[in-house]
Amino acid sequence: MKQRLVLAGAGHAHAQVLKAWADRGPRGVELVVVSPHAMAPYSGMVPGWLAGTYGFQDIVIDFPALCARAGARWVPAAIDRLDPDRQCLELDSGETLHYDFLSLNTGSTLVPPVCDPSVTVLSMRPLSQLKTGYDQLLERWQAGAATDAEPRPFRVLAVGGGAAGVESVLAVVNRLRTLRPDRPVQAELQTRGPTVLPGYPSGARRLALRALEQAGVAVRTGTRWTTGSAPACDLLLWAAGAQAHAWQRTPQRRGTLAVSPEGFVQIDRCLRSVSHPRVFAVGDCAHWHQPLPKAGVYAVRMGPVLLDNLLASLQGTALRAYAPQSRFLSLLATADGRAIATRGRFSLSGRWAWRWKDRIDRAFVNRFAAPPALQPVAHQGETP
Ligand SMILES: Cc1cc2nc3c(=O)[nH]c(=O)nc-3n(C[C@H](O)[C@H](O)[C@H](O)COP(=O)(O)OP(=O)(O)OC[C@H]3O[C@@H](n4cnc5c(N)ncnc54)[C@H](O)[C@@H]3O)c2cc1C
Repeated sequence: MKQRLVLAGAGHAHAQVLKAWADRGPRGVELVVVSPHAMAPYSGMVPGWLAGTYGFQDIVIDFPALCARAGARWVPAAIDRLDPDRQCLELDSGETLHYDFLSLNTGSTLVPPVCDPSVTVLSMRPLSQLKTGYDQLLERWQAGAATDAEPRPFRVLAVGGGAAGVESVLAVVNRLRTLRPDRPVQAELQTRGPTVLPGYPSGARRLALRALEQAGVAVRTGTRWTTGSAPACDLLLWAAGAQAHAWQRTPQRRGTLAVSPEGFVQIDRCLRSVSHPRVFAVGDCAHWHQPLPKAGVYAVRMGPVLLDNLLASLQGTALRAYAPQSRFLSLLATADGRAIATRGRFSLSGRWAWRWKDRIDRAFVNRFAAPPALQPVAHQGETP
């Protein structure tokens, strides 16, 4: 009987597994991919999309197309519950899916606060909801040009001082101002930490603070957001810390799967669940044996090791360990045609860094596009 491998989540590592599967996937294995959205955004390009530099179609990986090329079955659904002892998933579509091996690359989420209905809340996760909310905001914003009489400044408050908070406030403020130069935009970034970009070297923080200042974004550090104390705003950008998905945080929904106190799936050096050797987990949803930052770069770098270890598990051979790089290049977009490049303790900012980031990110997404011979012919009025 065929073994079944289920990949849950259209994350950065699974995109790589699927791409390689066409050449390396063993015979006699049924590959199933489960994720709620067909088009998976590449996180590195999200700030560029918020700033209007990219269209949404430029930053996404088409998972059903990848599945078709890999000979995998695409199931558009989300995990609702996992029973790792019976080796089955319950999906929100009502389907129950059994597996021989399961790989989780389901990312993380954010739970924004409930605010007064007059405030638009945009949570940076999940990205599908961010897209809907942002499209609606921009539509209202542009429509307001015809109706706002003597407008007061539009007030933006970003909560979260990590890369997502800094990049998103710079991108959104720039986009709003570009679309409507007639309406002033006031912005503030609030973080409970002592500075922005925790974990980054001091040079990167200085460059980020300079970019925020030049964009007119006030920075308030050491401040925890609460409904009572928050400054009044029209738009709340929520980027305060990645959280595990609800099914991972709820004991009845994750069964006996071992998770960290925050609900992230505990994995060993080989990316395998410490409690269930038939379950692997990578990227934001996982807690490696040493804590790693929740950044796309780890999900990307775990991809090749995950592929090797899934193949080894299916064939009953030895697994290899994942070794995170101690230094890697980080490129943060500042929405002014520049980016901040950081490697190790060194950080620089410039237009060249943005061009570099743009090239790297486009190349990553393009790796997963269909080869030209397989691309559909565009008809008039259709986007190829
Ligand atoms: C605005 C912003 C900017 C960022 N910029 C950077 C950056 O420049 N560099 C960087 O390294 N990191 C950046 N990050 C962090 C980065 O986005 C994450 O670390 C990265 O996306 C994690 O990748 P992943 O593969 O683990 O998951 P994701 O890319 O989030 O993919 C998870 C997938 O799982 C699916 N899924 C979710 N729930 C379920 C479920 N129940 N069942 C099945 N499927 C499910 C989702 O639909 C999605 O397809 C940024 C984050 C934000 C919000």
